[in-house]
Amino acid sequence: MDIREDVLGAIGRTPLIRLRRASELAGATILGKAEFMNPGGSVKDRAALGIVRDAIRRGELRPGGTIVEGTAGNTGIGLAVVGNALGFRTVIVIPETQSQEKKDALRLVGAELVEVPAVPYSNPDNYVRYSGRLAAELARTEPNGAIWANQFDNVANRQAHAETTAPEIWGQTGGKLDGFICAVGTGGTLAGVAEGLRERKSDIAIGLADPMGAALFSYYTTGELKSSGSSVTEGIGQGRITGNLQGLGVDHAYQIPDEEALPLLYDLVRHEGLCLGGSSAINVAGAIRLACELGPGSTVVTVLCDSGTRYASKLFNPAFLEAKGLPVPDWMARGDKGTR
Ligand code: PMP
Repeated sequence: MDIREDVLGAIGRTPLIRLRRASELAGATILGKAEFMNPGGSVKDRAALGIVRDAIRRGELRPGGTIVEGTAGNTGIGLAVVGNALGFRTVIVIPETQSQEKKDALRLVGAELVEVPAVPYSNPDNYVRYSGRLAAELARTEPNGAIWANQFDNVANRQAHAETTAPEIWGQTGGKLDGFICAVGTGGTLAGVAEGLRERKSDIAIGLADPMGAALFSYYTTGELKSSGSSVTEGIGQGRITGNLQGLGVDHAYQIPDEEALPLLYDLVRHEGLCLGGSSAINVAGAIRLACELGPGSTVVTVLCDSGTRYASKLFNPAFLEAKGLPVPDWMARGDKGTR
């Protein structure tokens, strides 16, 4: 018998998939951790579960309590899935400019949405700052209290990856891996997996795959937080050293333009049947670069963060790609005129 007791038991233990074309291009073995197979559809389910369990353990989140977070995407979905399963209310503060698809997805999984204007962090009404204030207020006024998930600086996020993602990768490869690489949103995945794998193999190569417009490539290569350019990817691209990134050392850092990553994304769906989001493409491109540096025959693991279905109107829509000045793959131009 192999029965998961509830949806929480279905978070994690995701397959590790050999990426054929990426492996051929690198002359190496490139493996993708299939995080899009989590119940909420992304790698963020692990962080959501880790953050909620940690708050329960500390006695901050009590039965019937409320989870508050400022997020537009996968973390909100993960928190709502976990919140529903454990009987917590989930309130997500979201910038009103976010797509209808995302708002619908959050409502579908049972989150209550609070829409705020899309303003920079310096403005107190910025969605992250607003969510922190709202959590403090609900903690005082709600009979069962409330917590702020605070995914960027709450290290329960990183811990979840050190305790689950890393040992899974270690077990699935039998310890036969030379490197791990991924992009950073909060840094929970990269820092947590790096910690967990380094405990088991101290000389493993840890890589950062940074999209254009993020400041971490510059930070890890020159010590200065500086950014240039932009990317159509979502959920990644960090401009500061978050609490989750603190103390992390990176052995290799790469800056990956969308023009390098997106053809890999389209090859994956057309030739390997894997339909993924843009951050997975940055990760696979980074894995190829790291494997080339580590040499022929090396094994590099990366993360397949979420599914392309979350980006149907963007990355898989020729009209969107044309508007961004990005090449439209032949098969997409032939088969779909972007009428979605
Ligand atoms: N890819 C996607 C699609 C995401 O939503 C996120 C989380 N923001 C990441 C990658 C990055 O993960 P982390 O927050 O662990 O750095």
